[in-house]
Amino acid sequence: SDEDGADSGIRIFPSLPPLHHGHPEIHLRAGIMQASRLAEDHEPNAEKAFFVGDLSQVYRQHMRWKASLPEIQPFYAVKCNPDPYVIRLLAALGAGFDCASNGEISQVLKVGGIDPARIIFANPCKAVSFIRSAAKMGVETMTFDNADELHKIARSHGSARLVIRILTDDSKSLCAFGIKFGAPLNTVPGLLAKARELGLDVVGVSFHVGSGCYDPSVYTDAIRRARAVFDMAREVGYTFSLLDVGGGFEDALFEQAAAFLTQAIELYFPDRHAENLKIIAEPGRFYVSKAFKLAANIIARRAPLTEASEIDTAAEASSDQPGVMYYINDGVYGAFNCILFDHQVIHPFVLSMNGSFHVPESEPQKLSSVWGPTCDSIDCVSPKTTLPSALQVGDWLGFDNMGAYTSCAASQFNGFEVSNVIYTMGGVGGSEVQQALTVFAASGYGL
Ligand code: PLP
Repeated sequence: SDEDGADSGIRIFPSLPPLHHGHPEIHLRAGIMQASRLAEDHEPNAEKAFFVGDLSQVYRQHMRWKASLPEIQPFYAVKCNPDPYVIRLLAALGAGFDCASNGEISQVLKVGGIDPARIIFANPCKAVSFIRSAAKMGVETMTFDNADELHKIARSHGSARLVIRILTDDSKSLCAFGIKFGAPLNTVPGLLAKARELGLDVVGVSFHVGSGCYDPSVYTDAIRRARAVFDMAREVGYTFSLLDVGGGFEDALFEQAAAFLTQAIELYFPDRHAENLKIIAEPGRFYVSKAFKLAANIIARRAPLTEASEIDTAAEASSDQPGVMYYINDGVYGAFNCILFDHQVIHPFVLSMNGSFHVPESEPQKLSSVWGPTCDSIDCVSPKTTLPSALQVGDWLGFDNMGAYTSCAASQFNGFEVSNVIYTMGGVGGSEVQQALTVFAASGYGL
């Protein structure tokens, strides 16, 4: 251990950054102390924002999944966070992968040790060249929801195992997909007849209740619809063997969602064991949301554009408008794109203030706003939040739950780099993570 309490890390995979031990909090602090040392040495970009990724959290989510949904194999939705360690850990733990593109398929297969049968190409509207590449890479399972897709697949990947993506109720989710994907039930018989005519092999049904689903009872109706499609398929001459229950799993509601799913599957698929039905899901957010925290530096502070020109005037103290604007070095064009694309509301907390990691509860607070670093005014991280009034340039803010739909969609607009990750195998579950990754690497994978 060095003076920050953080170890120097180990390298299980030579091509990736080191892996540390210990609670993420230790690494948030160590990262900040390292930044101060770099700043003292006048290093460029010394105070750069950074993530701490806790792989033991991903491991715990996997254990939670296995405990509540033992019959359902998770195919991690790579789009949510294609982090190289997350992919390796989930590969080592036996998960499958939901890929949206050629790029994601290559990224997963490049890791090694992942049979293409562990991939579902779960994008119902694919470029022909992508379908052809999937065929070349040995990926057989893919979704469709329209007749043109069937013609494209018949031309370029005739042996594919097809999964019909159906429309379900997504009105209870942060991000609804039904406006773009999913075959309404009344179109299913026609699509299946077309598939049959083209000599294609349709093996099952998928749906997605929408990402960030806050009413898990919708899974019941989705399974009911899937059952109806299994029956329609039989009419056309297909015997389905795959049920894909999609994503949408919210951390706080996971066990509830699992209970609804389990009951519905028991109700609508009572003969699944005898019929060898394989059930999979495509969770993204559930696995990674809590596993990543972000630390960002306050790079500027100013008074709001009001009559008051000085921070701390009496007028603003009594107002319900933010009295101070903080500018940090990651924003809406970076990790906080989740505000625009993923409808997230961001709650900063103080990581370090005036060189101390301890902020007394008695510290006077004031209404503040937090902004990203670019020259665009849409780049607002939090329009109204309460922060200590003594907070100033050089202090650090922290953000929890930054693992899902954040860095994967970050841009470098205005020349700001995407924030790096410091990795830890965490406290609880840390030794299991190290064990899983070491065995994976010893087989020659992920290097
Ligand atoms: N599967 C598909 C086809 C998706 O489009 C998405 C998200 O966009 C997911 C799975 C992952 O969803 P979630 O992160 O809500 O679990």
